Amino acid sequence: MLEILEIKTHQRTEFVDITAEVATIVRKSKIGEGQCFLFVPHTTAGITLNEHADPDVIKDLENFLEKLVPASNQYRHTEGNSPAHIKSSLLGHSCHLIISAGKLLLGTWQGIFFAEFDGPRTRRVFIEITPV
Ligand code: ZN
Repeated sequence: MLEILEIKTHQRTEFVDITAEVATIVRKSKIGEGQCFLFVPHTTAGITLNEHADPDVIKDLENFLEKLVPASNQYRHTEGNSPAHIKSSLLGHSCHLIISAGKLLLGTWQGIFFAEFDGPRTRRVFIEITPV
């Protein structure tokens, strides 16, 4: 079963917490035990898991990536969004989760974040849910 989650971002760099949306899709699938595979089909965006209780954790990650891949560096790609491409590769494009008793099996503090690095744009996350 394949679902597509559409995400509208509003800033150049933005981490969007999609945990509730993915949990709803899993619940509607009515699959008790299985796997949930999330895939981001973009070259200037990514996906990651991290703490979503304290928003400063994601802000620190965002600030760290900004320092690691500064816009002021010299880049060859003429489109002007090389930092976004690099951050996209650093974070990765997929996330594989376990479904148990009809729910996502996440750690207490874990949330799923879609990471925009070249917004604002309308983005997609492909979500494949497979029973085991
Ligand atoms: Zn580009």
